[in-house]
Amino acid sequence: MAKHQFQTEIKHLLDLMINSLYSNKEIFLRELVSNSSDAIDKLKYLTLTDEKLKSLKFQPKIEIKFDDKKNILTISDNGIGMDKDDLQNNLGTIAKSGTKSFLANLSGDNVKDSNLIGQFGVGFYSVFMVASKVEVISKKAGDEKAYKWISSGDGNYDLDEAKKDIHGTNITLHLKKDEESFASKWQIESIIKKYSNHIPFPIYLEYTETEFEEQSKEDEEAKKEKISKEVTKNEKINDAMAIWTKSKKDLKKADYIDFYKSIGYDQDEPYCHVHTKAEGTNEYNTLFYIPKKAPFDLYRADYRSNVKLYVKRVFITDDDKELLPTYLRFIVGVIDSQDLPLNVSREILQQNKILATIKQASTKKILGEIKKLSKDKEKYQTFIDEFGKLLKEGLYQDHMNKDALMELVRFKSTNDTNILTSLEEYTNNMQKDQKAIYYITGGKEEILRNSPLLESFKDKNIDVLILDDELDEVIMPSIGTYKEKEFKSVNRTDTANDLETKEDKEKAKKAEPIIKKIKNSLGDKVKDVKVSARLKNSPSCVVADENDPTASMQQMLKAMGQNMPDQEIKPILEINLNHKIVKKLDSLNDNDLKDISNLLLDQALLSEGVVPKDIKSFNENLNKAIEKSLYETS
Ligand code: ADP
Ligand code: MG
Repeated sequence: MAKHQFQTEIKHLLDLMINSLYSNKEIFLRELVSNSSDAIDKLKYLTLTDEKLKSLKFQPKIEIKFDDKKNILTISDNGIGMDKDDLQNNLGTIAKSGTKSFLANLSGDNVKDSNLIGQFGVGFYSVFMVASKVEVISKKAGDEKAYKWISSGDGNYDLDEAKKDIHGTNITLHLKKDEESFASKWQIESIIKKYSNHIPFPIYLEYTETEFEEQSKEDEEAKKEKISKEVTKNEKINDAMAIWTKSKKDLKKADYIDFYKSIGYDQDEPYCHVHTKAEGTNEYNTLFYIPKKAPFDLYRADYRSNVKLYVKRVFITDDDKELLPTYLRFIVGVIDSQDLPLNVSREILQQNKILATIKQASTKKILGEIKKLSKDKEKYQTFIDEFGKLLKEGLYQDHMNKDALMELVRFKSTNDTNILTSLEEYTNNMQKDQKAIYYITGGKEEILRNSPLLESFKDKNIDVLILDDELDEVIMPSIGTYKEKEFKSVNRTDTANDLETKEDKEKAKKAEPIIKKIKNSLGDKVKDVKVSARLKNSPSCVVADENDPTASMQQMLKAMGQNMPDQEIKPILEINLNHKIVKKLDSLNDNDLKDISNLLLDQALLSEGVVPKDIKSFNENLNKAIEKSLYETS
């Protein structure tokens, strides 16, 4: 036997790997299968390009065998194989770039960081996590001789000539004492299904099963007796379909739907799919589906998206929230990159340029597909019911795709109680002198629809978007403009200026003294009192100052347990000078003016769904007013 020593770094690497990747030992099988798949790919390529190998015919396959008595596991392939030099260079030194950069990054404290190990290809050496001894017998395609490489992962390996009939590589693992469970049909099958289901070559598992056979003798006694025998079976355990790698023209709609059902946990058909094959500097395939129904846990913090990342058809993860923007977390599908290393860690994924490019391109594609969906109004309405909220989240998150998202979001509006409006429809419907896109926030739909804030808008036939989602108030101020039109909240004081006529302004000037009186009588309950241009039927309303949260927003934040600033943010009370009550205020004495002013404030708050602070005095004031009207007029 010829003894050889590993490069010193390899020894170091082995120690680290055995100790650090412990929780994820099963990946050794993924690594071996992917090496076999690479080896078959290489040979296939050579049979097409190399004169010497052109005549070689072979049926690519990977075979797994196990012996649960001897605790042995064997992975074989009929790929390119390795000659003596290859074995020495590939399995004994750090020839490959992944390992090299891994070691280059190891220093001091890093050594114990298992995340770091995950960032680089662990590859072949991961076998030593589960095996105490590994035998590699390999014969290179086109060669006569075969070689055997044996190591216990302890710093040495033996390398000798060996016998092997056909080209390819057999790797035999002698499992460690505690790792015997890997020599089982169930274990192997589930690991292969998890990581290697879509390797494009068949993976066979050989196992024995005990079968019972009925005796066919005359004798009654023997008839009951069953004879058992061991039968060896050889079963293909992967799908080997990887439909995302196929060409669109080779796939039928049913293929896409079958695959969706197999990965989507959904028996319903999706709305549609987008299948992309990108070639050139960044090579990848993606296949995405837009499902019809939102999963029940879509809004939970621990929601797991259903986009799987593959590298060269090897499954890497389905637990990365960053593969697509989070607002697209309802998308189901696959990203398969040709250019990423197999062992990309989460940390690396998040800063990876290749993935960032894929993410960007995929987002555009998916938004394009949703755009197509939006052409069918009825379908789109059901889509929006399920996912509309997420598109709004996108407006907030994804500034790069803001324009596309603006075309996709839909809103309730004062124009129609049943049909949602797009911003395009809204702007097409704008009045001649309308300055902005108006919206109202802060409460349930019904409260918003009946808010006094809308009176003048209704009167002037100006649509107002009804934003009844808690998120809206957070999102809207950040979304900027649509086709150069500003978004303005009717809950805010300055918005009324848009409606003010010259006549209004003159009236307001004349009313200054009474406005001042009302303000004095309300004291610090309000930030200000103003003449309103937006009211028609109601005597008063409350609005928020330009940058303040609205009263209903404050109420909501408090209910959510958010700390509000010490100094309460007060509303601005607006008064409708044309209202009969208001016209009479001038003639009241100070006490009555105070009572009525408080009533005007409290009922304005109620209209916004906000409960007045002092309900007792609200009721007292109200009763006083009722009494007065009952007794003084009769
Ligand atoms: P990587 O696959 O990232 O190159 P590995 O540690 O998994 O790193 O494998 C090291 C090298 O050993 C491979 O690049 C390949 O040249 C060789 N090798 C491993 N397994 C096989 C195999 N089954 N057939 C042929 N060559 C192999
Ligand atoms: Mg490998």
